[in-house]
Amino acid sequence: MATRKSKALNIEYPSAETVQIIQQSLLSWYQNDHRDLPWRKNTDPYSIWVSEIMLQQTRVDTVIPYYERFMKQFPTIFDLAQATDEQVVKAWEGLGYYSRARNLHAAAKEVVGKYGGRVPDDLITISSLKGVGPYTAGAILSIAYNKKVPAVDGNVMRVFSRLFALTDDIASISTRKKMEKIAEHLIPDDAPGDFNQALMELGAMICTPTSPQCLFCPVQSVCNAYHQGIQEELPRKKKAKPPQEVPVVVAWITCDEYCVVEKRENHGLLRGMWSLPTWEEITEEDAVESLQNICAEKQLSIKDIRIVGKLEHIFSHRHWKITIVAIHLEKKQDQLLSRWKWINIDELEQIALPNVYRKALDLLF
Ligand code: SF4
Repeated sequence: MATRKSKALNIEYPSAETVQIIQQSLLSWYQNDHRDLPWRKNTDPYSIWVSEIMLQQTRVDTVIPYYERFMKQFPTIFDLAQATDEQVVKAWEGLGYYSRARNLHAAAKEVVGKYGGRVPDDLITISSLKGVGPYTAGAILSIAYNKKVPAVDGNVMRVFSRLFALTDDIASISTRKKMEKIAEHLIPDDAPGDFNQALMELGAMICTPTSPQCLFCPVQSVCNAYHQGIQEELPRKKKAKPPQEVPVVVAWITCDEYCVVEKRENHGLLRGMWSLPTWEEITEEDAVESLQNICAEKQLSIKDIRIVGKLEHIFSHRHWKITIVAIHLEKKQDQLLSRWKWINIDELEQIALPNVYRKALDLLF
């Protein structure tokens, strides 16, 4: 493959002939073979935005029903901007990474307040919105507004690593910048949106993390990794630290048909969300005694206390090893911690509870 080298950026750009082969092969493959996904039915910037935020760290199959429900509940950016935080988080319940929902909501309000509800079509303005990083900005601008802006996600990084046999660590920022420059060089003037989607689709369907389907790949003829037989060795990525293991106690505090829920702090993990009362750094051995002490401090009289189950939940940086303790109180006393409140057990369905607590409730019931 003939190349042109940019010394300053240490990038070897593919030749004009290779670029043309990649563009034509990918576009014609995408036009014939792309998946029929709900967010591909139109090029409305708001719906593309919602789908791209949901797709971060989440599989397409998981996202589809959430996306359809979300768009039914908030069909326009105005509907989303007018919704309460609680409604938005509830609609997101189960998808995890709730800061995505909060940022999207805040950004929708900004777009309605500042730009009359029109999603900005320039890179600087759109990138200033909460939760809109370079990939999301590129996806919206190229797909909705046909702008020649790269949208480089993990799929695209993998494809480029193999296509150009790049051994750079794909977890590093400089590699991402390098890939964005290569993408800029490849995007055709007349079909930026389709081309970006074709690259993502290739990474999702053919050039998959394990066992890439090279025999069916539209760009096999110009793929360096395939010709060198090293496609399974790429991309290179420095191993991330495993999530930190933390012992956690979750309490299921009840009295008659009522249970206690806790509003989490406005910072840190699952910030601002409803949960069951939770303490980090308490081990299973200390669980019962620690909770007895907490109840004694609050003058809550315990009728019964015992460990009823264990479960594990992994967030991006934390691995909770959870002991669930059931506490039955003598009376539905009101002197609770400030972030606690009594609700009827039937009402649990109506509040947005993170997955980890849904798992705990499944175990309890
Ligand atoms: S030929 Fe194989 S390794 Fe190369 S881009 Fe296609 S699927 Fe990926």
